[in-house]
Amino acid sequence: MVIVKDEMLVKGVVFYLESDLPSEAMFLLEDFRLAVNNAIRAGLQARVTSRNALVKIVYKDFRREHPRMYSQHLVSAFEVAGNALKNHRRRVRKGVTCRIPYVKRLMMKAENQAYKLDRESGVIDLPIRAGCHVELKLVVSQYHREYLGDVSLSLGSLTILPNRVVVAFRKDAPKPFVPESALSLDTNERSLDGVFVEGDAAKAIEVEFREVAIIQQRHHDRRRRLQKKKAHDRRTSRNLCRREGAREHHRIDCRLHHVANSVLKFAEERKSAIVLEDLKGIRSKRSKELNRRLSLWPRRKLHQIIEYKAQWKGIPVVKVDPRNSSRTCPICRRIQYSRMGTEFKCECGWHLDRHINASINLLQTAISKGMAGGLRFNPGAFQHDVMMILYAPSRGARSEPNGTSSIVGVA
Ligand SMILES: [Zn+2]
Repeated sequence: MVIVKDEMLVKGVVFYLESDLPSEAMFLLEDFRLAVNNAIRAGLQARVTSRNALVKIVYKDFRREHPRMYSQHLVSAFEVAGNALKNHRRRVRKGVTCRIPYVKRLMMKAENQAYKLDRESGVIDLPIRAGCHVELKLVVSQYHREYLGDVSLSLGSLTILPNRVVVAFRKDAPKPFVPESALSLDTNERSLDGVFVEGDAAKAIEVEFREVAIIQQRHHDRRRRLQKKKAHDRRTSRNLCRREGAREHHRIDCRLHHVANSVLKFAEERKSAIVLEDLKGIRSKRSKELNRRLSLWPRRKLHQIIEYKAQWKGIPVVKVDPRNSSRTCPICRRIQYSRMGTEFKCECGWHLDRHINASINLLQTAISKGMAGGLRFNPGAFQHDVMMILYAPSRGARSEPNGTSSIVGVA
């Protein structure tokens, strides 16, 4: 995850540990959780949510209760509690019924002054209390080396979990390059469809992820079966469904990252600006068959991944209002109000795959608003017979065993 903070980009990188967490560190995690939950309760009572306010009202009491805890850790417990309180307040204001926040899982966060990481050896020195430190040896792969060895990245906070740690790496946001070409993508349920424009040439692009919908459907069915089977035991049913959901999330996430990487690699090599539709306010049209929220989140998530990875690499991303993009003719600007099939046909003679037509409109909107640098685009130059495929699922993670995923859509 990359979060923008005053032009600073932050990326959390997960490291596993070479051996189990030492018992001193486990006790520290338990103490930390206790401190967080106590601070949440105190914050609710005093109606405060900021870390500093929490420090003011409860630090002294906590110091007494946790006399041996390193004070930096105590302050970061207030920070974690403050975030939980802010989320809680937001939910309450929205009118969502929710329980009082309570941190169940063992975790702790240490700010960058509160730990040391030797970036050569991958050893973390974590103070527990005065005179007591533990060393955590990280498992370092090639992927991790890229972050550890990059001197332009500074260290942010450290999150410790029983079996892994997350190190935040920070850097100044790189200035996006000036685009020499554009990659405009219309986001659909099973693919990104679009057009790549470079010089006078324009080609169709397809990035397919139909597996995502298949996975969603499969897990949706499985959850429904579980609910039926465990109808007499709501607690078990809920737990099993939650586990199903986590599994689904993980599998989809993994595929979306592959998809995003293929798009970004292409954009980086060709110095392309990426044009996407702004999904804000868009509602999925499928209602009963698949839960609405379910079918839209992978697309939102995919945009999120593309955007933050692009930001990290300095690739310009342009978001445009998709209104009428699938119904407008890019040649004569007529808008069609009737339903259409997979092909967009206009009275003026223009016809094209509906999704690719939409991406052309997105690109034209971006150009007309001056958001794509000095790029020009002539829809007449579009090559109907060429289709570039950036991503085919067979290259990705384990595919769904239903036979359809091996077919790559070549138009
Ligand atoms: Zn037309």
